[in-house]
Amino acid sequence: MTTIPPGSTIGILGGGQLGRMIASAAAQLGYRTHIFAPEESGPAADVSPNWTRGAYEDAAALAAFADGVDVVTYEFENIDPSAVETLSAHGLVRPGADALRIAQDRLAEKRFFNDLGGLTAPYASVESLDELEDAIEQVGSRAILKTNRMGYDGKGQARISEPGDAVGAWNAIGRQSAILEGFVTFQQEFSVILVRGVDGEIRFWDSPANVHVNGILSTSTVPAGAVIIAQVDAARAMARRVADALDYVGVLTLEFFASTDGPVFNEMAPRVHNSGHWTIEGAVTSQFENHVRAICGLPLGDTGLAAPHIEMRNLIGDDVLAWQDILSDPANHLHLYGKNDARPGRKMGHVTRLSL
Ligand code: AMP
Repeated sequence: MTTIPPGSTIGILGGGQLGRMIASAAAQLGYRTHIFAPEESGPAADVSPNWTRGAYEDAAALAAFADGVDVVTYEFENIDPSAVETLSAHGLVRPGADALRIAQDRLAEKRFFNDLGGLTAPYASVESLDELEDAIEQVGSRAILKTNRMGYDGKGQARISEPGDAVGAWNAIGRQSAILEGFVTFQQEFSVILVRGVDGEIRFWDSPANVHVNGILSTSTVPAGAVIIAQVDAARAMARRVADALDYVGVLTLEFFASTDGPVFNEMAPRVHNSGHWTIEGAVTSQFENHVRAICGLPLGDTGLAAPHIEMRNLIGDDVLAWQDILSDPANHLHLYGKNDARPGRKMGHVTRLSL
């Protein structure tokens, strides 16, 4: 088991706010970071000394990047499997290629989860309008059509409420490889956030209750209420199976619907996650620090709560203009991502509030 000691360089694919927070945690532990991203700059550039601008499809650039760092991790998982193979041939990639391959494909993800014995929404693969019409018969006409790949924050999705919506939905998602999911009637949403070390040890943070608005996470709150707490053990048991089956190293997040049938798996992210941002101040060790510890083979930190009640709220678009008011309350911890343009729907920062 290789330990990557402080002083080494961690390569991060993606230079957004997740990369920024991973790089900050890495710096605290004495690591250097090197970002690889297609943009010229981004939120991670303020805290990471090295930035390579390159396309995720550029095998030569990825190989050179992997050769120059001690371990590669990612904040962005929608890269081509062949790019991951290139990276793996040139160095250590944590979490590994299997986790990436499954998490970037909604069909593969649901099949994988079902095969391990977990519950998902009913679903069907859709490659054409004809297949969509068959799928609606199969899973029901209250459904969501989602692109199989590259979807995030509710993008690449179209709701269906009757069979006549098929054409509009198929056009709305750009007529591409998709999955039709039956609409789950849920009481609340929550996530399981875990870290798994190189020796297979797993630690869980408390599961937050997550509220989404327009498909984008709005708040994450711990402790979650009784409905979620009653389902956390079952969800954790499944998350453990997923992590073990992938021999996963790093932070892994699984999103669930709390339904009357128990926890229904929605999707997973093979990385640190927005619903875990509260751990920076709200847990003894943050998801970012434990991710760095795990991928470098260090002992994992305590995931216990640092306050009785914690709420993380995303600052989306113009929400960020309230930064002065937010700072005037000492219970608030403000994080701004250094983005200039507060476009609607854009995650500009977050605020975590600790209380009794
Ligand atoms: P996703 O991009 O899959 O995380 O979807 C974003 C949000 O849309 C979820 O957090 C839910 O609030 C909602 N959603 C997604 N899929 C379903 C579903 N099958 N049934 C009900 N709500 C869903």
